[in-house]
This record gives sequence, C-alpha cells and structure tokens, in this order.
Amino acid sequence: MVERPRGTNDWGPQDMAKRRFVESRFIQLAESFGFREVSTPTFESLELFTAKSGLGIVRELYAFKDQGGRDLALRPEFTASILRFYVSSLRSLPKPLKLYTAGNAFRYEEPQKGRYREFYQLNAEIIGGASLPSDAEAVALAIGTMRAIGLKQVKARIGNIGVLRSFLPFSPTDQSIVLHSLDKRNFPMLDAELARLGRKDLSTPLRKLVELSGDASILNDAAKVLGGASTEGLDYLRDLAGFLDDYGVSRSDYTFDMGVVRGLDYYTGMVFEIDSPNLGAEKQVGGGGAYRLSEIFGGEPVAQTGFALGLDRLVMAAEAEGTIEAPRPLDAYVVPVGDTARKKAIQILTSLRAAGLGADIDLIGRGPSKNLDYANAIGARFAVILGERELKQGRATVREMATGVQREVALDDLVDTVRNV
Ligand code: AMP
Repeated sequence: MVERPRGTNDWGPQDMAKRRFVESRFIQLAESFGFREVSTPTFESLELFTAKSGLGIVRELYAFKDQGGRDLALRPEFTASILRFYVSSLRSLPKPLKLYTAGNAFRYEEPQKGRYREFYQLNAEIIGGASLPSDAEAVALAIGTMRAIGLKQVKARIGNIGVLRSFLPFSPTDQSIVLHSLDKRNFPMLDAELARLGRKDLSTPLRKLVELSGDASILNDAAKVLGGASTEGLDYLRDLAGFLDDYGVSRSDYTFDMGVVRGLDYYTGMVFEIDSPNLGAEKQVGGGGAYRLSEIFGGEPVAQTGFALGLDRLVMAAEAEGTIEAPRPLDAYVVPVGDTARKKAIQILTSLRAAGLGADIDLIGRGPSKNLDYANAIGARFAVILGERELKQGRATVREMATGVQREVALDDLVDTVRNV
C-alpha cells in the first residue's frame, strides 16, 4: 500500500461538496464584483519566485530540476504567476484588470491541522486601478467572501507597510531584513540588525509601532510614535476606512494593526490579514495588500493589489460555524425490476437526465428492496420503480423516499412529477 505524501490530502465526496460550496461563494461574489477568471501553470521557473523574495525562499518551495535540467518550482502562491502573465500577455487589456483564480499551491512546511504542503487558495488581483479605490475593492471582496460563506466571526487586521518602510532609511535588502525580524516579532534579531546599521535608536519606536492595534484612534498614536516623519500612510488608512463604510463593511469586522508585516517582500502599501478566531493556531484565513511586482518582471509601474484566502481554512471555519449548505440531492434513482425492464429503464433515465434532473440507475442488478435501501443511503429524493407490468401500461411507480409514499404515474408525467416536490 503506497501512502499519500506527507502534507497532502485526499478529499472524499462529502469534503468536496463542502469545498465546492465555499469556492463557489467566492467565485459568485468575485464575478459580481466584475473580476474574471484566469489560470496559470502549477509549476513555474524557479526564478519567478526568487526574483523578489531572494534565494532564501527556495527552502520553502517544492523546487526541482526537470529532465531537461531546468530549475522549476511548484507555485507557492498565485500573485507572482498572475503578474508574470500580465507583463507577458495582458498589458494591452483595458485597465483596471480584475482577475481571480482558485487552485492548489505548494509549500514545504511542517504539516499540522490547517497547514499542509499542498493547499488551496482563492486569489484575486486588481492591476492598474488607482491605489485607494482598488485597495478598498480588494478588502471588500475578501471580507465579503467570508460573509457570503455565512461566517459571522471575521476579524481583519489592516496595516500599512509603507509606514514602516518610510521609517526605515535603509537599502531594500536591509529594509527586508528588518521587516522580516518585525514580522516574526524577533526583537533580539531586530536589535542586532539595527545595531549593525547604526540605528539602534529606531528599536523602541519600531517595537511601539508594531504593537499598535485597535480602532482608528491608534492611527493618532502611530502618528505620535512617528514624530516628525510622514504620516501619509496613516491618512491613507483613514481614507480606506471611509471607503469601507460605503461598501457596508462593518467597523467591527476589522481593526487597524500597525504590526501587519506580510511575509513576502513585494508588499509596499496597505496590507491586511483576516482571521477566523475560532480556528486556533491556524486561524489566519487570508491576507493581501498593495504590492509592486509588474516592475520587477519588466512591466510598467502600475498599482497592484490583491489577496489570497486559504480554502482549506475557510472550509474549517464554515464547518465550525455550521454554515455549509447541503448539496442538491439526487432527484431520482431508477430501479428496473427484471431484465426485460432494463432497456426501457435506461431510456427513462436518459430522459430524466436530459430534462436537467439528477438521475441514477441500478448498476448491479439488485432486487427491488435492496435497491430501495441503496436509494435511501445515497439520499435520492425519489425512487422510480419500473416493473414489466407498469411498463406495459406506460406507467411507473414513484416512491418519495422521505415519506415512503408511492404512487403510479404515466411515463409522460414522470419528469414533471420528479421535478415538482
Ligand atoms: P499567505 O500568502 O501566506 O498569506 O497565504 C494566504 C492564506 O493561504 C493564509 O492565510 C492561509 O489561510 C492559507 N495558507 C497559507 N499556507 C497554507 C498552508 N501551508 N496550508 C493551508 N493553508 C495555507
């Protein structure tokens, strides 16, 4: 028996119904926001992911050489692929481009509940809009998706990495190192790096900044910490909150949090993360923000913003809150009684399917009572029993499985009978 690789999952029919429920809510909402679907390869040139994040990211990737000696990697996320696609082929499309995609991503992580090596993301990107309206639209879609799934417990944290960046007068590489230590809240490392850069004085204000979280009043506190430095990034967040009010996003759905430092290096402005508080350690269901990647891949500078929601965790959150709707049951299970009835039964089955109904048929040749047990077990709404006597009269016996009530109907009326409950 060969086991599946560590950190991967098999999803059975019940799991998949739940996953499709969550995914379809995202797709419906994204389409209603005017986003359109794209698809990019599951593997890319390794370079795509090291271009901005550096070689350090390789140990978090499924990176490999193919038989032609090319360095490739399974995608750890979608944004880099979509921006590569944009720069190579989509630049001439009318802007802004609003794109979504859903699929699997791969990271070489230590597996645990809600953290896998193959996982699924729901991803949306806006390219070439003005920053503020695009950021607001992205956050509204992300929070709106959680609401569309029926989740009540939604806690977004919105920050602005631009504020931190403008406070760090270092080269991009050194900025990344300092931001990384802040992201991990690794203060010894922060202090060591600041000492190396001759700016130990920044340690206290930086620590204060990343601890600030709460309602809009913390933006005033942040301004105080920044002292004379630019507060543009804080004003931006106040304006964003105004836009979110207009979208109908409740202020209780999010807090401002100056400590949101996204792990990937390409974020430049507004950044956010969303938690589903009842998921425990792996409560973060999504994150995103404004970034610069087009330029890195040789495109023109345009505003870019987007987010990814983790499908696996959204499903766990939806299960915990009991919001998942049962899939549509099978409408009819056709039971031919006796071999001569089978040919006619297949024709009737086909006519039910052609009418858009879900219909299945006995494939084993079981007797009628075993077949009714099976119809019950698979949750069929009706069993359509076709005996030779009924067929001769152009009739079928229709049994409503929930009540056990049976009646004979003319074959001409069968579709209508099954369609109307
Ligand atoms: P990130 O780009 O790392 O912020 O990922 C976005 C979302 O994807 C996270 O908030 C998680 O919900 C989900 N996610 C990331 N990594 C994993 C993983 N290894 N397993 C399951 N979900 C993940």
